[in-house]
Amino acid sequence: MLKDQRLVQTAVIGHTASEVPVVLPTRAGEVSAFRRAHAADTFWCGRWLGGCGGRLSIKTYQDRVCHFAHVPDPGRGPCRRTSAGVASADHLYIKQQVLAWLAGQSITAHASLPQEGDRLGAEVLFEPGGHGCLRVVLDAQAAPLTTADDG
Ligand SMILES: [Zn+2]
Repeated sequence: MLKDQRLVQTAVIGHTASEVPVVLPTRAGEVSAFRRAHAADTFWCGRWLGGCGGRLSIKTYQDRVCHFAHVPDPGRGPCRRTSAGVASADHLYIKQQVLAWLAGQSITAHASLPQEGDRLGAEVLFEPGGHGCLRVVLDAQAAPLTTADDG
């Protein structure tokens, strides 16, 4: 069996279907503070990260980059998560922050993420009631083609 060489820097907190993202610091000193701040939390290679659903543990190193690692589970298949770097949870942060900002304006909104694996982190669609819609595109390939007439 091949060893997983990816450096997983993001996870979700609490359970595999969680939308609460977290980014692990890369340096050991920062990871110590991170561990204290998240002493009661569990970390997951979550569904909304395009992950396998497995539980993650923190790997701390003094001489190389700290990262999350999958807790061994013989019943789980190989992880096919395509994006694991620091930006891989941006869509979840954007969803949280924009919903909070809209709530601060007394606007209740619904937000949705693409369901398909490849496009999962590509965009977030917000539908604030009575205010049209807002589409945040994080992947240029997700943007529709525009013509000169559009502009
Ligand atoms: Zn995984």
